[in-house]
Amino acid sequence: MERVFVDINNLKEFTSDVFQKLGVKKEFADITADVLVSADRRGIGSHGVQRLKRYVNDIKNGRILPNNGPQILKETPVSLLVDGQAGLGQVIGYLTMEKVIEKAKKSGMCFATVKNSNHYGIAAYYSMMAIPHNFIGISLTNAAPLVMPTFGKDMVFGTNPLSIAVPTENETPFVLDMATSTVPRGKLEVYRRMGKKIPKTWATDEHGNPTDDPDRVLKNLLERKGGGLLPLGGAEEEDGSHKGYGLAVVVDILSGILSGGAYGLYVYKEKHPNVCHFFGAINPEIFIPLEELKKNMDDYIRMLKNAPKRAGKDRIYIHGEKEYEKEQEHKEKVSVLKVVYEEMLNIAKEAGCEVELKVIG
Ligand code: NDP
Repeated sequence: MERVFVDINNLKEFTSDVFQKLGVKKEFADITADVLVSADRRGIGSHGVQRLKRYVNDIKNGRILPNNGPQILKETPVSLLVDGQAGLGQVIGYLTMEKVIEKAKKSGMCFATVKNSNHYGIAAYYSMMAIPHNFIGISLTNAAPLVMPTFGKDMVFGTNPLSIAVPTENETPFVLDMATSTVPRGKLEVYRRMGKKIPKTWATDEHGNPTDDPDRVLKNLLERKGGGLLPLGGAEEEDGSHKGYGLAVVVDILSGILSGGAYGLYVYKEKHPNVCHFFGAINPEIFIPLEELKKNMDDYIRMLKNAPKRAGKDRIYIHGEKEYEKEQEHKEKVSVLKVVYEEMLNIAKEAGCEVELKVIG
């Protein structure tokens, strides 16, 4: 599909302006734009500016109350219970993680569980906020129910991603950032667009049987006819389906249940979706000297990358490495799908946006 290049700063300014024209205060609009553009820079287009329309619609229909920030309901030296007050997920995530890091500087670690927020985009944005402080960062979120439990027929919980970021000395930081379903919904959309069949470990039909037809799954998801995405591992125990299922439930427990918010089928049930998150920052120095952690992380990463390779494979990656390389490549400009670019221009025109989004190649 045709793509166009845009300047990173122009894209951020443009995206922020769209939010500001919808009445979002500049600070919050800038945070949200930065999270979205970061996803594009990291090569996760499915969670980048392509989602602008969805956030704009949710602000217009009152699902998101975009000028609400995080409200602390309960606080100890190592914890926060936060009400997201139906604010923008990116703003609630960013400001909560900022506070978590600030508290970890004093207490060695801090964890926050957040209720009543919205879709926050890529989980790694928040875990990675800990890296410049030389802390380990953790970020989890629940999501709209699209995934079924092992041996289930209908969807009960979300693609519930988790991200853990760990600092290194010279190697690329370790950044695991993954949905706990085999794939997120966006990947089925990509396959449908390309007219390709999907592997049978990704999703089921309305009867709960594995299928290779992405169109059928996506239609069923939309019409809530049954079936849905499979947990990480696929449909069967022998492929480890129950492990992905377990990870997704853990995410729901730490974010949804522990915050007193929504979990499983209750997420996106009411007008305000009540998406819940969990964040953490750990100062490694409460266990070992920072230098030792960083030295051993580098050593471990080299051990993994230098391990013997399977025939036909010449490289072993570390989690976050491919995304880091894309980020370096996209320091100044990034490409977006032409259809996404055109959709953004329409959104901007409707919102009365003043910043022009220019194609630079
Ligand atoms: P991927 O399957 O693309 O990647 C999962 C992880 O594995 C990443 O850390 C990735 O790092 C790493 N990885 C990929 N290939 C290799 C390899 N060969 N060796 C080692 N590591 C590898 O991610 P998902 O499709 O599961 O998720 C995509 C994004 O969607 C994430 O950012 C997630 O947070 C977001 N998401 C958000 C949701 C929400 O509701 N807010 C819901 C679901 C997902 P790298 O890419 O650097 O290789």
